[in-house]
Order: sequence, then C-alpha cells, then structure tokens
Amino acid sequence: MVLDELESSLEALCGTEPAALSDGETIERLHRCLARLEAATTRAVASFDARREWDADGARSAAAWLTGKCRLPRTSARRRVRLGRVLRHLPAAERAWLAGELGEAQVAALARMRTSATEDALADEEEMLVGQASSLRYEHFTRVLAYWCQHVDPDGAEDDAEAKRSSRRVHLSQGFGDLWFLDGVLDPLSGAIVSDALRRIADELFEADWAEARARRGEAATVADLARSAAQRRADALVEMARRAGTAPENGRRPEPLFTVLVGYETFHGRICQLADATVVSPGSLVPWLDQAWLERVVFDPASRVIDVGVSRRLFTGATRRAVQVRDQECFHPLCDEPAEQCQIDHVEPWSAGGDTVAANGRPACAYHNRQRHRRP
Ligand SMILES: [Zn+2]
Repeated sequence: MVLDELESSLEALCGTEPAALSDGETIERLHRCLARLEAATTRAVASFDARREWDADGARSAAAWLTGKCRLPRTSARRRVRLGRVLRHLPAAERAWLAGELGEAQVAALARMRTSATEDALADEEEMLVGQASSLRYEHFTRVLAYWCQHVDPDGAEDDAEAKRSSRRVHLSQGFGDLWFLDGVLDPLSGAIVSDALRRIADELFEADWAEARARRGEAATVADLARSAAQRRADALVEMARRAGTAPENGRRPEPLFTVLVGYETFHGRICQLADATVVSPGSLVPWLDQAWLERVVFDPASRVIDVGVSRRLFTGATRRAVQVRDQECFHPLCDEPAEQCQIDHVEPWSAGGDTVAANGRPACAYHNRQRHRRP
C-alpha cells in the first residue's frame, strides 16, 4: 500500500542527520512535503467524515473520533473536519494544496471567506485567489482576501467591522496582593490609536534608558544594561499616558488619527483602505472618525509613480517621505515586513553616488536592513 512506502521513506528521512538537511532548498522542499501530507490527510478525513466511518466505533462525530484516536486537541480536530468539508467546494485550492503550492494556513484563510453571500463569487474567482496565495507572503495574501471580501460582500464586511467594534471592552481590577490586572479587546482602529500613542511614549522611555546606560557603561553599553525590560517600559508608558491625560490643558488640541486616502491608485491596484500598520478596515468603520481626522491626499500617475515635489535634499522628509511610506508600506527587504512608518527612508541609488532624494529613488528600510546594507561592500 502507498502508505507503507511513505512510512519507509519517512523512516529514512527521520534517520538522516539534521545537518544533512539544513540547506535552504531542502527546508523549502520539506515544507512543501509537509503541506502535501496535510492536504492528503485532510482530504482523507473529509471522506472518513462523509462516509461516517467513525460511527462504527461509537463516536458521536468525526471530530470526536479524531480527538480520541489521534489525540488531537478538540479544536484542531474540529478545524480539520471543517476544512475537509469546505475543501469539496474549493477544487483549485485542493489541487494547489495537494501539489504543495499552498499550505494549510492559506487554504484555511480561503475557506473562512466562504459564506452564503460569497460562495458564488468564490467559485468564479477561486483560481485567481489561489494564484495570489501561492505567490504572496501569507500576511499579504490575507490582506488581498480582506479587500476581496469587501468587494464581493460590502454589507458583510461592514457587519463584520461593526461586530468587531461591538466586542470592545477593557477590564481593570484590583486583585490578589493588591495588584491591578488589565486586559481588554479593541477594534482595529481604536487599537491602532492606543498602540501608536503607547509606542511613542515607550520609545521616549527607551531613549531615556539608553542614555542612562550609556552614561553608566559608556561605549560598552548593550541592551542588557537597560534598567527596564520592554514590558516594564510599556507598563510605565501606560501610566505616563494617564498622567499626561491628567495634565493636558482643558482646551488643548487632541491628536487626530490619520487615515490615508489613495487617489488615482485604485484603478491600477484595487481599493486601498487600511491603517498605517496595514490592517485592512472597512470604509464604514472610518466614518465615526472622519470629523476629527486629518485627511491626506497622495496623487499617483498612471505608472503608479507618486507625483511628488522634486527637491534637492539629502534626507527624505515631509511629503516625499510620506509618499514612499504610503506606496511601499513595508521595509524593502523581501524577507522583512516591518511597517514603513517604523522604517527610515533610504536611497535606492545612494546619495553619494548621485541618487536623487525623490520618491522614485526612495524605499523604506528598517533599522536592521539599513545597517546591513551599509555594512556590506
Ligand atoms: Zn527590514
């Protein structure tokens, strides 16, 4: 039987020294094999489920059988059975998964998109989405799915946003040992506003800690010399936020959340409606914020180049900097997804080699990849 052959191959594979399998190409191939095995297993489970083979052992469902016999956590068992059922309606995804071009995560993300409102559109456009899934990084693919869903089921996307907004809550209570316990859930927009403010203050505290460590240890100072851990700084930043709220002048200007509106871009690249951290949001969820938001307009020409002000400057600042952030959204390095807002804007062709400080010659580079570039010859 085919499984016997697979098992003897696995025997040989598991007996191989890890060092003999540790090159990049082998790691990729192993992941492709893993995906194919998951695909074949899920498909077999779907058939096991449909033919009610689990009934013979007295189980109440295929998931209950898997939980008991395969010792899966109940949630994993249910997820596998559910995915197997949806897979029957996703022939292109099934094919690509069996071929190892997709992983379980992509197929599951695609399966989650299938609702009564989207199933017809999904049947029509599944091939296109599978193509995206097999070429894009996972996070980028889920963004594509979010836009796709807004496009084919705008009401559903707004309902979904409303449900997320309704689930907001914060608990802060004093408990054991007089300690305070804080936990909560925020919708994407509120979360981005709070996280942004918290990160800014935590960054200030980091600079202060770093200055203190340098004063104490001089050039030899490392991250290990910092007086506070990152989590402690975040806690202090929250307290600082509260203190600043208390000392803010009565009629002081409130910092407005900033949204990015892309004009003349969607024709070429599809709709863009997302936060600076690349979270896709529904147009409706922006409405409550519009009367207090700064609107920013960035104009792209048909070649999707930003029409920017060409000035002779050493550093990317102002509108040019913002244009590059909006256009590229992430660090330039293909294996990095640091948001552009937290990157420096780097010259593609260096300034020293005559490169201009214009959007076309700019790209976001995170601190790590900026340093790495300058280290290399
Ligand atoms: Zn990077």
